[in-house]
Amino acid sequence: MGSAAGSEPLLRLRGVGKVYEGEQPVVGLEDVDLDIFPGDFLAVMGPSGSGKSTLMNLLGCLDQPDAGSYLLDGEEVGQLGDDQLAGIRNQRIGFIFQTFNLLARTTALANCELPMLYGGVLPGERRERARKALAKVGLADRMDHHPNELSGGQQQRVAIARALVNEPAIILADEPTGNLDSKSGIEIMGILQSLNREAGITVLIVTHDPFIARHTQRVIRLQDGRIVVDEAVAHPLRAGETERPSEVSLEEEART
Ligand code: ADP
Ligand code: MG
Repeated sequence: MGSAAGSEPLLRLRGVGKVYEGEQPVVGLEDVDLDIFPGDFLAVMGPSGSGKSTLMNLLGCLDQPDAGSYLLDGEEVGQLGDDQLAGIRNQRIGFIFQTFNLLARTTALANCELPMLYGGVLPGERRERARKALAKVGLADRMDHHPNELSGGQQQRVAIARALVNEPAIILADEPTGNLDSKSGIEIMGILQSLNREAGITVLIVTHDPFIARHTQRVIRLQDGRIVVDEAVAHPLRAGETERPSEVSLEEEART
Protein backbone atom coordinates (compact mmCIF):
# COMPACT_ATOMS: atom_id res chain seq x y z
CA MET A 1 0.00 0.00 0.00
CA GLY A 2 0.91 3.63 -0.29
CA SER A 3 0.95 4.09 3.46
CA ALA A 4 4.73 4.00 3.58
CA ALA A 5 6.35 5.14 6.79
CA GLY A 6 6.81 8.86 6.87
CA SER A 7 4.45 9.78 4.04
CA GLU A 8 1.68 12.24 4.86
CA PRO A 9 -1.93 11.33 4.09
CA LEU A 10 -3.33 12.86 0.93
CA LEU A 11 -6.80 12.84 2.51
CA ARG A 12 -7.33 12.95 6.26
CA LEU A 13 -10.72 12.91 7.99
CA ARG A 14 -11.08 13.38 11.74
CA GLY A 15 -14.43 13.14 13.50
CA VAL A 16 -16.26 13.97 10.29
CA GLY A 17 -20.05 14.13 10.43
CA LYS A 18 -22.78 15.04 7.99
CA VAL A 19 -26.46 15.45 8.78
CA TYR A 20 -29.09 16.01 6.11
CA GLU A 21 -31.54 18.53 7.55
CA GLY A 22 -35.24 18.11 6.96
CA GLU A 23 -38.42 17.33 8.83
CA GLN A 24 -36.57 14.34 10.17
CA PRO A 25 -32.81 14.99 10.13
CA VAL A 26 -30.89 12.05 8.65
CA VAL A 27 -27.36 11.12 9.63
CA GLY A 28 -25.25 10.68 6.51
CA LEU A 29 -21.91 10.19 8.28
CA GLU A 30 -20.93 10.17 11.92
CA ASP A 31 -17.52 10.53 13.57
CA VAL A 32 -15.50 9.25 10.65
CA ASP A 33 -11.70 9.04 10.90
CA LEU A 34 -9.88 8.07 7.73
CA ASP A 35 -6.37 8.45 6.31
CA ILE A 36 -5.78 7.85 2.62
CA PHE A 37 -2.20 7.92 1.39
CA PRO A 38 -0.83 8.81 -2.02
CA GLY A 39 -1.08 5.74 -4.23
CA ASP A 40 -3.75 3.99 -2.18
CA PHE A 41 -6.48 2.05 -4.00
CA LEU A 42 -9.58 1.64 -1.83
CA ALA A 43 -12.99 0.07 -2.11
CA VAL A 44 -15.82 1.56 -0.05
CA MET A 45 -18.53 -1.00 0.72
CA GLY A 46 -21.64 -1.20 2.88
CA PRO A 47 -25.40 -1.53 2.59
CA SER A 48 -27.58 0.95 0.74
CA GLY A 49 -27.99 4.10 2.82
CA SER A 50 -24.84 3.48 4.89
CA GLY A 51 -23.16 6.71 3.75
CA LYS A 52 -20.95 5.64 0.85
CA SER A 53 -22.03 8.40 -1.53
CA THR A 54 -22.02 10.95 1.27
CA LEU A 55 -18.39 10.04 1.98
CA MET A 56 -17.42 10.28 -1.69
CA ASN A 57 -19.18 13.64 -2.05
CA LEU A 58 -17.34 15.04 0.97
CA LEU A 59 -13.97 13.69 -0.17
CA GLY A 60 -14.63 15.13 -3.62
CA CYS A 61 -15.50 18.56 -2.22
CA LEU A 62 -18.97 18.34 -3.75
CA ASP A 63 -20.29 18.85 -0.23
CA GLN A 64 -18.82 19.94 3.08
CA PRO A 65 -18.90 18.25 6.48
CA ASP A 66 -20.92 19.78 9.36
CA ALA A 67 -18.53 18.40 11.96
CA GLY A 68 -14.87 17.45 12.17
CA SER A 69 -11.88 18.17 10.02
CA TYR A 70 -11.05 17.29 6.41
CA LEU A 71 -7.48 17.94 5.33
CA LEU A 72 -6.76 17.54 1.62
CA ASP A 73 -3.01 17.52 1.10
CA GLY A 74 -2.63 19.29 4.44
CA GLU A 75 -5.21 21.99 3.70
CA GLU A 76 -8.43 22.34 5.75
CA VAL A 77 -11.22 22.01 3.19
CA GLY A 78 -13.87 23.43 5.54
CA GLN A 79 -12.19 26.82 5.40
CA LEU A 80 -12.08 27.13 1.64
CA GLY A 81 -14.49 29.29 -0.33
CA ASP A 82 -16.65 28.12 -3.21
CA ASP A 83 -14.17 29.18 -5.89
CA GLN A 84 -11.31 27.40 -4.19
CA LEU A 85 -13.42 24.25 -3.82
CA ALA A 86 -14.38 24.40 -7.48
CA GLY A 87 -10.70 24.76 -8.34
CA ILE A 88 -9.79 21.70 -6.29
CA ARG A 89 -12.56 19.65 -7.88
CA ASN A 90 -11.48 20.65 -11.34
CA GLN A 91 -7.70 20.30 -10.92
CA ARG A 92 -7.08 17.61 -8.34
CA ILE A 93 -10.03 15.23 -8.48
CA GLY A 94 -11.46 13.10 -11.27
CA PHE A 95 -15.05 11.87 -10.82
CA ILE A 96 -16.57 8.75 -12.32
CA PHE A 97 -20.24 7.85 -11.85
CA GLN A 98 -22.34 4.72 -12.16
CA THR A 99 -24.35 6.24 -15.01
CA PHE A 100 -21.29 7.67 -16.84
CA ASN A 101 -22.83 11.21 -17.00
CA LEU A 102 -21.67 11.91 -20.54
CA LEU A 103 -23.29 14.59 -22.68
CA ALA A 104 -25.44 12.68 -25.18
CA ARG A 105 -25.20 15.01 -28.17
CA THR A 106 -21.47 15.34 -27.96
CA THR A 107 -18.66 13.13 -29.26
CA ALA A 108 -16.33 11.21 -26.97
CA LEU A 109 -13.59 13.70 -27.83
CA ALA A 110 -15.72 16.76 -27.00
CA ASN A 111 -16.92 15.13 -23.76
CA CYS A 112 -13.28 14.79 -22.73
CA GLU A 113 -12.50 18.39 -23.59
CA LEU A 114 -15.21 19.73 -21.27
CA PRO A 115 -13.27 19.77 -17.96
CA MET A 116 -10.60 21.91 -19.63
CA LEU A 117 -13.01 24.65 -20.73
CA TYR A 118 -12.78 26.23 -17.28
CA GLY A 119 -9.05 25.81 -16.84
CA GLY A 120 -7.80 28.24 -19.45
CA VAL A 121 -6.36 25.47 -21.63
CA LEU A 122 -6.05 26.56 -25.27
CA PRO A 123 -8.21 24.73 -27.86
CA GLY A 124 -5.33 22.92 -29.59
CA GLU A 125 -3.96 21.73 -26.29
CA ARG A 126 -7.44 20.69 -25.16
CA ARG A 127 -7.88 18.50 -28.20
CA GLU A 128 -4.44 16.98 -27.80
CA ARG A 129 -4.95 16.12 -24.14
CA ALA A 130 -8.43 14.67 -24.80
CA ARG A 131 -7.00 12.51 -27.62
CA LYS A 132 -4.22 11.22 -25.39
CA ALA A 133 -6.61 10.40 -22.55
CA LEU A 134 -8.93 8.49 -24.91
CA ALA A 135 -5.98 6.57 -26.35
CA LYS A 136 -4.93 5.67 -22.81
CA VAL A 137 -8.28 3.97 -22.16
CA GLY A 138 -8.16 2.14 -25.50
CA LEU A 139 -10.62 4.33 -27.42
CA ALA A 140 -8.29 5.90 -30.01
CA ASP A 141 -10.62 4.61 -32.74
CA ARG A 142 -13.87 5.81 -31.15
CA MET A 143 -13.15 9.50 -30.53
CA ASP A 144 -15.80 10.80 -32.92
CA HIS A 145 -18.56 8.50 -31.69
CA HIS A 146 -21.49 9.73 -29.62
CA PRO A 147 -22.31 7.97 -26.33
CA ASN A 148 -25.28 6.08 -27.85
CA GLU A 149 -22.90 4.56 -30.41
CA LEU A 150 -20.75 3.08 -27.63
CA SER A 151 -21.25 0.12 -25.28
CA GLY A 152 -21.66 0.73 -21.56
CA GLY A 153 -18.06 -0.29 -20.93
CA GLN A 154 -16.85 2.07 -23.65
CA GLN A 155 -18.94 4.93 -22.26
CA GLN A 156 -17.40 4.37 -18.85
CA ARG A 157 -13.97 4.43 -20.46
CA VAL A 158 -14.83 7.82 -22.01
CA ALA A 159 -15.82 8.97 -18.52
CA ILE A 160 -12.44 7.80 -17.19
CA ALA A 161 -10.64 9.64 -19.98
CA ARG A 162 -12.65 12.76 -19.15
CA ALA A 163 -11.61 12.38 -15.50
CA LEU A 164 -7.94 12.20 -16.55
CA VAL A 165 -7.53 15.27 -18.73
CA ASN A 166 -6.59 17.61 -15.90
CA GLU A 167 -4.17 15.04 -14.46
CA PRO A 168 -5.89 14.57 -11.10
CA ALA A 169 -4.11 13.18 -8.04
CA ILE A 170 -7.29 11.37 -7.00
CA ILE A 171 -10.02 9.46 -8.82
CA LEU A 172 -13.34 9.05 -6.99
CA ALA A 173 -15.68 6.53 -8.58
CA ASP A 174 -19.17 5.91 -7.15
CA GLU A 175 -20.15 2.40 -8.30
CA PRO A 176 -18.25 2.67 -11.60
CA THR A 177 -19.03 -0.93 -12.55
CA GLY A 178 -22.61 -0.97 -11.17
CA ASN A 179 -24.25 -0.66 -14.60
CA LEU A 180 -21.85 -2.93 -16.45
CA ASP A 181 -21.72 -6.64 -17.22
CA SER A 182 -19.08 -8.60 -15.36
CA LYS A 183 -16.50 -8.61 -18.17
CA SER A 184 -16.74 -4.86 -18.83
CA GLY A 185 -16.57 -4.22 -15.09
CA ILE A 186 -13.28 -6.08 -14.84
CA GLU A 187 -11.94 -4.15 -17.84
CA ILE A 188 -12.74 -0.91 -16.01
CA MET A 189 -10.90 -2.25 -12.95
CA GLY A 190 -7.91 -3.06 -15.18
CA ILE A 191 -7.79 0.56 -16.37
CA LEU A 192 -8.09 1.90 -12.81
CA GLN A 193 -5.36 -0.50 -11.66
CA SER A 194 -2.96 0.66 -14.33
CA LEU A 195 -3.68 4.34 -13.57
CA ASN A 196 -3.00 3.59 -9.91
CA ARG A 197 0.15 1.57 -10.56
CA GLU A 198 1.68 3.46 -13.45
CA ALA A 199 0.53 7.04 -12.92
CA GLY A 200 0.42 6.76 -9.11
CA ILE A 201 -3.14 8.10 -9.00
CA THR A 202 -4.96 7.50 -5.70
CA VAL A 203 -8.22 5.68 -6.44
CA LEU A 204 -11.39 5.23 -4.37
CA ILE A 205 -14.31 3.24 -5.67
CA VAL A 206 -17.68 2.44 -4.18
CA THR A 207 -18.81 -1.08 -4.97
CA HIS A 208 -21.34 -3.67 -3.80
CA ASP A 209 -19.41 -6.44 -5.52
CA PRO A 210 -16.91 -8.37 -3.33
CA PHE A 211 -15.09 -9.68 -6.40
CA ILE A 212 -14.56 -6.12 -7.70
CA ALA A 213 -13.37 -5.09 -4.22
CA ARG A 214 -10.69 -7.80 -4.31
CA HIS A 215 -9.09 -5.87 -7.18
CA THR A 216 -8.24 -3.01 -4.79
CA GLN A 217 -5.70 -2.89 -1.94
CA ARG A 218 -7.89 -1.86 0.97
CA VAL A 219 -11.56 -2.14 1.86
CA ILE A 220 -13.50 0.10 4.18
CA ARG A 221 -17.02 -0.88 5.14
CA LEU A 222 -19.65 1.61 6.29
CA GLN A 223 -22.69 0.97 8.40
CA ASP A 224 -25.13 3.65 9.57
CA GLY A 225 -22.66 6.38 8.61
CA ARG A 226 -19.70 4.90 10.48
CA ILE A 227 -16.63 3.00 9.35
CA VAL A 228 -16.92 -0.48 10.85
CA VAL A 229 -14.16 -2.22 8.90
CA ASP A 230 -10.88 -0.88 7.47
CA GLU A 231 -8.57 -3.63 6.29
CA ALA A 232 -5.97 -4.47 3.67
CA VAL A 233 -6.96 -6.86 0.87
CA ALA A 234 -4.83 -9.93 1.52
CA HIS A 235 -3.97 -10.80 -2.07
CA PRO A 236 -5.22 -8.13 -4.46
CA LEU A 237 -6.25 -9.57 -7.81
CA ARG A 238 -4.96 -8.28 -11.12
CA ALA A 239 -7.84 -7.57 -13.46
CA GLY A 240 -8.45 -10.38 -15.91
CA GLU A 241 -6.16 -12.89 -14.25
CA THR A 242 -8.71 -14.59 -12.00
CA GLU A 243 -12.11 -16.02 -12.87
CA ARG A 244 -15.03 -14.67 -10.88
CA PRO A 245 -15.84 -17.25 -8.17
CA SER A 246 -19.28 -18.83 -8.08
CA GLU A 247 -22.14 -16.86 -6.54
CA VAL A 248 -22.13 -19.22 -3.58
CA SER A 249 -18.55 -18.50 -2.52
CA LEU A 250 -19.11 -14.76 -3.07
CA GLU A 251 -22.08 -14.85 -0.73
CA GLU A 252 -20.03 -16.68 1.85
CA GLU A 253 -17.36 -14.05 1.55
CA ALA A 254 -19.89 -11.24 1.92
CA ARG A 255 -21.08 -12.76 5.20
CA THR A 256 -17.61 -13.02 6.71
P1 ADP B 1 -25.19 5.04 0.18
O1 ADP B 1 -24.47 5.72 -0.91
O2 ADP B 1 -24.35 4.15 1.04
O3 ADP B 1 -26.40 4.29 -0.32
P2 ADP B 1 -25.88 7.71 1.05
O4 ADP B 1 -24.59 8.36 1.40
O5 ADP B 1 -26.50 8.07 -0.25
O6 ADP B 1 -25.76 6.13 1.21
O7 ADP B 1 -26.95 8.05 2.19
C1 ADP B 1 -26.67 7.98 3.57
C2 ADP B 1 -27.92 8.42 4.34
O8 ADP B 1 -28.17 9.79 4.10
C3 ADP B 1 -29.18 7.67 3.91
O9 ADP B 1 -29.99 7.48 5.05
C4 ADP B 1 -29.80 8.61 2.92
O10 ADP B 1 -31.20 8.42 2.88
C5 ADP B 1 -29.43 9.96 3.47
N1 ADP B 1 -29.27 10.99 2.41
C6 ADP B 1 -28.37 10.96 1.41
N2 ADP B 1 -28.47 12.07 0.64
C7 ADP B 1 -29.47 12.81 1.19
C8 ADP B 1 -30.07 14.07 0.86
N3 ADP B 1 -29.64 14.81 -0.16
N4 ADP B 1 -31.08 14.50 1.66
C9 ADP B 1 -31.51 13.78 2.72
N5 ADP B 1 -31.00 12.61 3.08
C10 ADP B 1 -29.98 12.10 2.33
MG1 MG C 1 -24.70 5.66 -2.99
